[in-house]
Amino acid sequence: MEIHFLGAAQTVTGSQHLISVNGSRVLLECGLFQGKRRESFERNRNLPFDAKSIDALILSHAHIDHSGNIPNLVRNGFRGVIYSTFATRDLCSAMLRDSAHIQEQDTAYANKKRSRKGLPPAEPIYTYDDAIASLEYFVSVGYGRSVPVAPGVQCTFLDAGHILGSALAFLEIEEPGQGKTRLLFSGDLGRKDMPILRDPAPAPEADILIIESTYGDRVHEPHEKAEQRLCRLIDETCNDGGKVIIPAFSVGRTQEIVYSLHRLANAGQLPDVPVFVDSPLAVNVTEVFRLHPECYDEEVRAFMNHGRHLDPFGFERLRYIRSVEASKELNELQGPAVIISASGMCEAGRVQHHLKHTITDPRNVVLIVSWQAPHTLGRRLIERQPTVKIFGEEFPVRARVEAINGYSAHADRNGLLGWAEPIARGLQHTFVVHGDPEPAAALADGLGRLGARNVAVPERGAVFRVVD
Ligand SMILES: [Zn+2]
Repeated sequence: MEIHFLGAAQTVTGSQHLISVNGSRVLLECGLFQGKRRESFERNRNLPFDAKSIDALILSHAHIDHSGNIPNLVRNGFRGVIYSTFATRDLCSAMLRDSAHIQEQDTAYANKKRSRKGLPPAEPIYTYDDAIASLEYFVSVGYGRSVPVAPGVQCTFLDAGHILGSALAFLEIEEPGQGKTRLLFSGDLGRKDMPILRDPAPAPEADILIIESTYGDRVHEPHEKAEQRLCRLIDETCNDGGKVIIPAFSVGRTQEIVYSLHRLANAGQLPDVPVFVDSPLAVNVTEVFRLHPECYDEEVRAFMNHGRHLDPFGFERLRYIRSVEASKELNELQGPAVIISASGMCEAGRVQHHLKHTITDPRNVVLIVSWQAPHTLGRRLIERQPTVKIFGEEFPVRARVEAINGYSAHADRNGLLGWAEPIARGLQHTFVVHGDPEPAAALADGLGRLGARNVAVPERGAVFRVVD
């Protein structure tokens, strides 16, 4: 058996690992690399293998940095099976189409520039039709069921507790004359005690572990504190007649914030202000959330069973906004309100319009609830830069900018180590991926202290051969 580390190696983006065994090739993840525009385009377009040679793809969850290059894989001739949970498949239906739309828009924009330079037009990495075509290749599997994915390879998904449908992939691999090797892939590991989702499943004993390390060197604020701060900020801001703008990813973060607000409203703690979710993707994704109660934790199930509160993602004062007209009307809205809108890092989408209309008024608050990549508008806001550019125009930042990190969907250092500890001493090889070099190295060090042997932080292109 060989494992090729092809993406999310010493970085958090573009997840992709290839397992070659018994003459088959099984891909773990097929994510989009997100970084500087030109580099991303080239890297995502040119797959580091022949797509036709891949027999199966195992997908841990629907986030674009794990799933976003699937349409390109199919466009390039992949005809195997994509294994995922049911919720992951349904989220991919919404997200891959959205991603295709962005690819097409970006290419149209780039082509305007190219035509001015007399260059021929470029093609998008994939189109909307490619995204739809790729949905034909999914085969969904529930948690805890072992399925054959290639000769001698069985795969079982276990709940990763990270986003709806997220899974750990546990592979049992039999090679003739070599015995059995158990490989555990963490995908993205979630946190304990988070709203909506169950806690990550305990790690089954394994010989090889591939583990993420996004927050391998950091500890998060507890979630209950985050919810109380959210409530206080809304209360203060709305009392002053201001608005709270929350840039949020359409998948996961938006639904968590909505559910928090719903609980606070039920408890009589949320001030009586209108709440809007303004993102067409978030509206679609919330529909997928509603379709998958099998992924909810006990608390949400009890919440749904409790009298009239049937929908965790809807309450009286909440309105979901799909149309452009209704979104524009929000700009004219007088008085306090909470507006949740995408994109999460403020780089695109409707949140930019809301920021443009609110950022110069000191009564308003911009509330950042997720990690912000360097050089994004969200990062500049969190750094409290005095002015920011929105749609090419400079605006003074007079609104207050606040950050709550207690909503992170990733396990922190303690969560990662606590999850791996029970199996650490039995591990023959551990590969730390999906983290920048510092957190990856810090987690590798921690795992070594727990007794894991041969802990490595592979670089992109590294190949590991299992020899008995
Ligand atoms: Zn993720």
